[in-house]
This record gives sequence, C-alpha cells and structure tokens, in this order.
Amino acid sequence: MSDQCFSQLALPAPLLECLTSLEYHDMTAVQAQSLPAILAGQDVIAQAKTGSGKTAAFALGLLAKLDVKRFRIQSLVLCPTRELAEQVAAEIRKLARNIHNIKVLTLCGGVPTRSQIVSLEHGAHIIVGTPGRVLDHLQQQRLDLSNLTTLVLDEADRMLEMGFADALNAILAEVPAQRQTLLFSATFDKAVRQIADNIMQSPVTVTVASPH
Ligand code: ADP
Ligand code: MG
Repeated sequence: MSDQCFSQLALPAPLLECLTSLEYHDMTAVQAQSLPAILAGQDVIAQAKTGSGKTAAFALGLLAKLDVKRFRIQSLVLCPTRELAEQVAAEIRKLARNIHNIKVLTLCGGVPTRSQIVSLEHGAHIIVGTPGRVLDHLQQQRLDLSNLTTLVLDEADRMLEMGFADALNAILAEVPAQRQTLLFSATFDKAVRQIADNIMQSPVTVTVASPH
C-alpha cells in the first residue's frame, strides 16, 4: 500500500468503497497534501494546475461530514461557469453514489429560474452553482444557507477575473460565520489572496508546483 493511498484517510466506509470501485487508489499530490487538513475541519487554500484532482479533494471533504438524514443545505460550491458547475456536480454525485438519498442541486445562470425554484422547494444537501444565480436565489429568499457547514470556492481566480467579486462578497455576507471554507485556484494573485484573507480563518495553504 502506497503512502499516498486513500485508504489511510479517516474516510467513511461508503466513500472508501466508492473510491475503490472507481479505481481511485492513490491520491494526487494536491489531494494528499490537502485532504488531512480538510478532513480535520480546517480552512484550506489549495493551488494546483488544472487536471490535478482538486474536485475530489473538496468533494470528499464535504461528503465525509455531510449528514444525509438532515435534509438541509450543508454545502455550497461556487464555480465560475455553468459548464464547470455541472462537471463538479457530476463528480460529487459519482463519489456519493454509495450515500443513499443524497441530493445535489445545480443553480447556474443560463438555465430558466422557474425550474430551479421548483427544485429548491424539494430541498437539497449540496448546492453547486455560479455566483450570480446563487445570489439571485438568496436575495429572493428561496435559498436557506443558515445550516451551511462547508463553503467551497472553486476556480477562485477565474471567478474574480469574470467579475464575480461583488456577488461573492454578497453571498459571503449571508452564510454562517461558523463554517469551513475551502478555496481552490490554479493561480494565486493579489485578488485571490485578498478574498482569502477576508473569508478564511487561519487557513492551511497547499501549493503544488507545476513540473517544468
Ligand atoms: P482540477 O479540478 O484540478 O482541474 P479535476 O478534479 O477535474 O481536476 O480532476 C481531473 C480528473 O482526474 C477527473 O477526471 C477526475 O475524475 C480524475 N481524478 C481525480 N482524482 C483522482 C485519483 N486520485 N485517481 C484517479 N483519477 C482521479
Ligand atoms: Mg477544477
């Protein structure tokens, strides 16, 4: 067994069984470096290039602590685009396939609001969405984030490049202060540093250098 093996982590059995069935055996570098802190409940900033497995790092973190019997929104993942949000939701559903009755809902711009309102009325455990549309539902009081325990900013650099800073700050003002915040980014410039400083508490920082 390699020392980068998922089975050495304190993951619930349904998640470990799922990883085995997906043939995910060894963690990628960013997973190996971030998952111990994520599973310990710490705030984590992780910088690693595209394709390095950042989605599974935060997905396993939020799934490990999710209480499926509590039908409330417990995790919110914000992504820059609808396409990325749908990819993230698909990866979360894939990793959660041994967790029965789990509900993952996407809330993205470019999709009719009406169908999302109906879905929200049915409830969810995990929301994956784009900042503009999530804020819209929040402002219309269709989205209750008062039970949120995990907030993920995925591709934070791209969300800021796309002009979502105000929407992100408005969402952040509405989520419980007592929460775990995870921030993932391919790059880490001043704007990302600034938002991280504002929203995270003593974060653990993981940087996986790209090979030259
Ligand atoms: P990133 O968000 O860093 O760009 P992704 O999370 O999209 O990268 O992961 C890239 C691909 O690697 C996905 O297809 C994912 O299913 C796969 N993957 C992630 N972690 C592992 C792992 N530990 N073992 C095998 N495949 C993995
Ligand atoms: Mg990604």
